[in-house]
Amino acid sequence: MPRLNYHHNLCTACRSCELACAFINFQEFNPAKAKIKIYLDRSSGSISLCTEENCIYTPDCREFTCTNYCPSGALYTTKEV
Ligand code: SF4
Ligand code: SF4
Repeated sequence: MPRLNYHHNLCTACRSCELACAFINFQEFNPAKAKIKIYLDRSSGSISLCTEENCIYTPDCREFTCTNYCPSGALYTTKEV
């Protein structure tokens, strides 16, 4: 089963992935409902990402929709080993 992954050095914290996820799953542009969360530490500039455990099992998201809306190419999928 593929899993969602990301290159932290490419992420710009634009949060497009959160909007895409919320829309494909809830038909709302509401980042609070997204199964992917981007955290930007403004003091250090570091960016971290987390996803809910069940994000890859969402019926409406078998194609990892968020990866198609990541403008920097930071999001990608990997095969689980
Ligand atoms: S893979 Fe689908 S459910 Fe998971 S974070 Fe991306 S858009 Fe959301
Ligand atoms: S869409 Fe891509 S660049 Fe934007 S916050 Fe998400 S992972 Fe980062």
